[in-house]
Amino acid sequence: MDDATAAAGHGADLAGLIRTEFLFLGRDAAPSIDEQEAAYRSVAALAGRRAVIRTLDVGGDKPLPYVDQPAEANPFLGLRGLRLALAKPNLLRDQLAAISRVAADHPVSVMFPMVSHVDELLAARHFLDEVGNPSPAGLEVGMMIEVPAAALKAAAFVPHLDFVSIGTNDLSQYALAAERGNEAVAASADPLDPGVLRLIDAVCQAVSGSGVRVAVCGEMAADPAAVPLLIGLGVEELSVGPYSVPVVKQAVRNLCMSACRELARHALSLPSAAHVRALVE
Ligand code: PEP
Ligand code: MG
Repeated sequence: MDDATAAAGHGADLAGLIRTEFLFLGRDAAPSIDEQEAAYRSVAALAGRRAVIRTLDVGGDKPLPYVDQPAEANPFLGLRGLRLALAKPNLLRDQLAAISRVAADHPVSVMFPMVSHVDELLAARHFLDEVGNPSPAGLEVGMMIEVPAAALKAAAFVPHLDFVSIGTNDLSQYALAAERGNEAVAASADPLDPGVLRLIDAVCQAVSGSGVRVAVCGEMAADPAAVPLLIGLGVEELSVGPYSVPVVKQAVRNLCMSACRELARHALSLPSAAHVRALVE
């Protein structure tokens, strides 16, 4: 709620990533459909514009006491995000029911995290159709692209989506095999690495001309060095923390599109993140 208030006050055009897991963590039982509806409704009203509600993104690293889940040796590669939601469909069904209720009278998008396979997206969409039938007219459906394989086969998801949002925090950790939050490898996980930029480029190319919008919602979107590259690759929406909104908007207004395209093409051919940062500077 604090973030939504700050975002609205700082000129955000929409709420690009509402991390609903905060509503589910630190308690003994899952929130009811009514409780979820009330929470999503208040955030959507505060944001005042479209609210992108991400379904539960928890798992081995953020366990829920009321979900029976065995400990995993590699939780970031385990049952997390949409995988967990599909394994525990009651949680997902309730959440989608709450989101559908809010979507009946607010512009709302639902977004699925950590999708690796088209079948997972179709299964999630099936639950959405089940709980919100008929589907609210303004409800848009999107997915996060955080898994490198999903980035490379983005075209396969396009027919089933209104938008994609690239989660560069996770995409970088998986692409560079460097766990996020592990300080010993933090320097290896720079999303400006040309390998990560190529994945973002692959997504932008796959959705280009399809009508599916492409956003970036990882921390990278607020990095002044990354902004011209993302715009140049074809990213249409940047989702940043509330206090970064004015700075990023101003940075975008000062950019020249054709120069950004040229800069981004050049960056893709460089050997390292350090080279890319030097180029942007
Ligand atoms: C991301 O992975 O980039 C992202 C925005 O999701 P989260 O940081 O919540 O994992
Ligand atoms: Mg993520």
